[in-house]
Amino acid sequence: MVLARRTETATAVTLLLHVEGQPAATAGQRVEIRLTAEDGYTADREYSLARAGEPDRAEITVQAIDGGEVSPFLVDELEIGSELQVRGPIGGWFVWRPDQTEPVLLVAGGSGIVPLMAMVRARREAGSKAPFRLVYSVRSREEMFYRSELRMPDPGVDVTEVYTREAPEGSRRPAGRLTVADVNTGGWPPDFAPTAYICGPTGFVESAADMLLALGHDARRIRTERFGPTS
Ligand SMILES: Cc1cc2nc3c(=O)[nH]c(=O)nc-3n(C[C@H](O)[C@H](O)[C@H](O)COP(=O)(O)OP(=O)(O)OC[C@H]3O[C@@H](n4cnc5c(N)ncnc54)[C@H](O)[C@@H]3O)c2cc1C
Repeated sequence: MVLARRTETATAVTLLLHVEGQPAATAGQRVEIRLTAEDGYTADREYSLARAGEPDRAEITVQAIDGGEVSPFLVDELEIGSELQVRGPIGGWFVWRPDQTEPVLLVAGGSGIVPLMAMVRARREAGSKAPFRLVYSVRSREEMFYRSELRMPDPGVDVTEVYTREAPEGSRRPAGRLTVADVNTGGWPPDFAPTAYICGPTGFVESAADMLLALGHDARRIRTERFGPTS
């Protein structure tokens, strides 16, 4: 059942769901949402959890995709008290656990920030000292999720914003796709042996992973999660 809705951007909302019996999730895990029409037709989609750790709760952030079957419904139609089917948490590879102490590099493309935000939050909740860096590629400042939270002073999490369509005044670079230089300056040198988590549209994830490999990062320390087609 939907307990709360929060607007993230003009086209994305965060939904807090009560999911009876759901175990506490690890940061990076996801859930499966099933919508069932009156005629019995069902549509299933996966959504990453934006926050880990609380049993019976699922917090997701959904970006409405134009013409999409499920996401516009979740963003525009669901109200507090609406019921939906949720299964999870799912996933054991694209996760960060508070007992990890190595440096972490998070690379997000668009809504790919969602599971990475769960990691940032889990780190803070656990009082972890693991050094985190986040490179967040987004079309414009208006499309950033969790903007005020990411700008809170939080020593240990350095955030580099990369604007692909429209850079705000005073940005350190003009608008454009993520480059090796962005990942190099916003990330860790390979010698620090960071674990990298990359999440976003398929094309974004593949090119960011190629950049890390080109910079000399160990393929075994790069974890990826693909949300769908290149946007
Ligand atoms: C592991 C995993 C985790 C995910 N987590 C999130 C999340 O936290 N937040 C979130 O908003 N989405 C997330 N997604 C994407 C989500 O599952 C759906 O694919 C998305 O909401 C679109 O569903 P739809 O039914 O609205 O669109 P569909 O009806 O499935 O597709 C409509 C059109 O949009 C295109 N399309 C589908 N998905 C995308 C996409 N991601 N980007 C651009 N174009 C697309 C399709 O090719 C098609 O042309 C995740 C996906 C995966 C696999």
